[in-house]
Amino acid sequence: MQLENETEASGEDRRLYLPQHDGWEGRVKSDSTKEYCYYKNPGDDFFHLLVVGEIYLVRGDEKCCLNCAIRHAIVTSDRLHWQHRVSRTKPLPF
Ligand SMILES: [Zn+2]
Repeated sequence: MQLENETEASGEDRRLYLPQHDGWEGRVKSDSTKEYCYYKNPGDDFFHLLVVGEIYLVRGDEKCCLNCAIRHAIVTSDRLHWQHRVSRTKPLPF
């Protein structure tokens, strides 16, 4: 029997999460106007062109491709990210 796709075959979770989601929105590039990612890859001297159908993030004027969002830790594949955050409150003494 053949599995539906590679994700099922590998058990890899491709979902992404925004631990600090203040102001960020997910969008799909739906037109052919030239829009660029706000960030560059280290060593590159060009911004990433967002292409039709691409899923990207927006916060105000800032647009961010998913590669850069992952590199800058804006998004994570860690579904339990909220459990791994450092607690800012001290534990109760009992
Ligand atoms: Zn980018």
